[in-house]
Amino acid sequence: MAGYLFTSRAWGNLGLDIGDVDSLVFRNRQNLKSALSLDSLHFMRQTHSDTVMVAAGEDSVFDCDALITSDKGTGLAVLVGDCLPIIVTSSSVVGVIHAGRKGMMNGIVQKTIAQMRELGGKDLVATIGPSICRDCYEVSPQMYQEIIQNFPSAATNDEIHALDLAAEVKNQLTKMGIRTEVLGACTRENNEYFSHRRSTQKQETQGRQVGVVFL
Ligand SMILES: [Zn+2]
Repeated sequence: MAGYLFTSRAWGNLGLDIGDVDSLVFRNRQNLKSALSLDSLHFMRQTHSDTVMVAAGEDSVFDCDALITSDKGTGLAVLVGDCLPIIVTSSSVVGVIHAGRKGMMNGIVQKTIAQMRELGGKDLVATIGPSICRDCYEVSPQMYQEIIQNFPSAATNDEIHALDLAAEVKNQLTKMGIRTEVLGACTRENNEYFSHRRSTQKQETQGRQVGVVFL
């Protein structure tokens, strides 16, 4: 039976290379691994790519934006601070996907689902965790128009020209036959979560939370 957790600020910052002391980040990661009684916990160096990798063995860090595994006790973590943390579960394979604006557009969601099915995953269920909401993710009017031409589910309205990333990703998952729940909490509006955009605007310290999944 798969399990998952979306951390909040209370778990501490889990992201490296955003201004925090490395040893504190590693301590927070170790605390998370212990709290979930995992044999291993795997992270990603995320670059908004469409790369999917299979995690196994001891704690490691992969250069990719989606991880999958069919090994029990093997935790997979996706780091976010406004982007969508997507957890995919089944009885035999689990996965995490990092999807921001670029991930929404580059096909990583579909690629991950296809690879999970190749590994034998059946009856996959997806959960989209805390992320920036359709009112807060404003982009330039020009970018907005360009994107909604190809991704109409991301449209909100021309005046605020903000993108609804969760709606478009849910649409992609639904088209592949995946039942999808959107948890809905907005990272930018809710101080309980780290938010890249809020921290940048207020010139506050950055932080990242994770979605973590395991069999
Ligand atoms: Zn919001």
